[in-house]
Amino acid sequence: MRAMVLDRPGFPLELRDLTDPSPGVGELLVRVRACAVCRTDLHIVDGELPAVRLPLIPGHQIVGTVEKIGAEVQGFAIADRVGIPWLGWTCGDCAYCKSDRENLCDRAKFTGYTCDGGYAEAVVADARFCFRLPANYDDAAVAPLLCAGLIGYRALRKTDSAERLGIYGFGNAARIITQVARAQGREVCAFTRPGDVAAQRAAIDIGAVWAGGSDQAPPRRLDAAIVFAPVGSLVPIALRNLVKGGRVVCGGIHMSDIPSFSYRDLWEERSIESVANLTRRDATEFLEIAARLPLRIETETFSLADGNEAVARFRDGTLRGTAVLVP
Ligand SMILES: [Zn+2]
Ligand SMILES: [Zn+2]
Repeated sequence: MRAMVLDRPGFPLELRDLTDPSPGVGELLVRVRACAVCRTDLHIVDGELPAVRLPLIPGHQIVGTVEKIGAEVQGFAIADRVGIPWLGWTCGDCAYCKSDRENLCDRAKFTGYTCDGGYAEAVVADARFCFRLPANYDDAAVAPLLCAGLIGYRALRKTDSAERLGIYGFGNAARIITQVARAQGREVCAFTRPGDVAAQRAAIDIGAVWAGGSDQAPPRRLDAAIVFAPVGSLVPIALRNLVKGGRVVCGGIHMSDIPSFSYRDLWEERSIESVANLTRRDATEFLEIAARLPLRIETETFSLADGNEAVARFRDGTLRGTAVLVP
């Protein structure tokens, strides 16, 4: 199989010919049909997250078809379409796994980070962490649901019943979650880079009731805010726009430092929380919602060999939708 391989963070991926992996006990060999690029891939490629496995094939929003089935796998047949997300394996045995918080598992494995991912023509994955995908999306359109959608949904769940929601950083996750929030009857205020009128227009177009720069205040205070942008200085800004008891949820895996702020901004039971990874329950719930809605997903597709260009365009902010590699 061909794959885009990371040898050294900070350097381009290399297109390489490798032998197909073979599925072990409980695993599937999946022929990749699409793999969406996530901001976490950028953090891995650029070395902002510690390198835990090199060389590495990145990519954790994988759509493909089952080609081989390992021993003891149940519930999948050859040619089934499956999705493979970030959470690749959990131990099932630690205190977190036993308390319905497998996203925090002490020994968790992550697709495209601690095990090889989907910037390739084929990948192996633990079948228990593979999902059937809603039929109303094609391969490229459904791929961004597997992280931007799933982890965005986990962030949305953490806002509980917040009716007036602020979203900072209007990228892939924000576009998906705005549509879900609206369908749930919530109002979304979108905060973009100051002066980014095109992003503000796109946010309104997809259902935000208000859009402005992150330096602006929303028309009314927010019940909760989700910060998807990896920019720590947005956290105290979001906090100041909350009602009493409101919550800021940080949706990313990496963020620049949060500057110090007055306790007054946190007082009156405001809180700051982060989201880490996903549980299989998040995936099942969100994919059911996605099947019902359906969500508008914009993508820009790239060949596998153009993986570096896809990553660079994401980094530069010049994509017109989610970048998706189509081998
Ligand atoms: Zn565990
Ligand atoms: Zn991701």
